[in-house]
Amino acid sequence: MATKSEPTVLAVAPSKTDPSKSYEIRRGKDGTIYCTCPAWRYQRLKKGEKRTCKHLAAFFAQQLTSPEPTCAVTKSEVASGLRRHKERWALRTRRNQEHKEAQQ
Ligand SMILES: [Zn+2]
Repeated sequence: MATKSEPTVLAVAPSKTDPSKSYEIRRGKDGTIYCTCPAWRYQRLKKGEKRTCKHLAAFFAQQLTSPEPTCAVTKSEVASGLRRHKERWALRTRRNQEHKEAQQ
């Protein structure tokens, strides 16, 4: 029986690179939603970036299309989770372009 202080597992995402592994999308004690994958844990954030990973993005996208939310995430959490991912990619893409331009 899980106590209240333990993180809640919201979903389990199988690893694509290693089928024997899977990661958990969890809600921590402080209410933040996070993933247990190494990409989430070890990612280096540049200025203006927020922590996210492909599992979280997929999880939020799934919540968006699911008629019946499978777990306790609010619509605003889903929206902000997806926005976070989108912003992150926009930032990365822009940096890559700038990098390319600088090399020319
Ligand atoms: Zn992840």
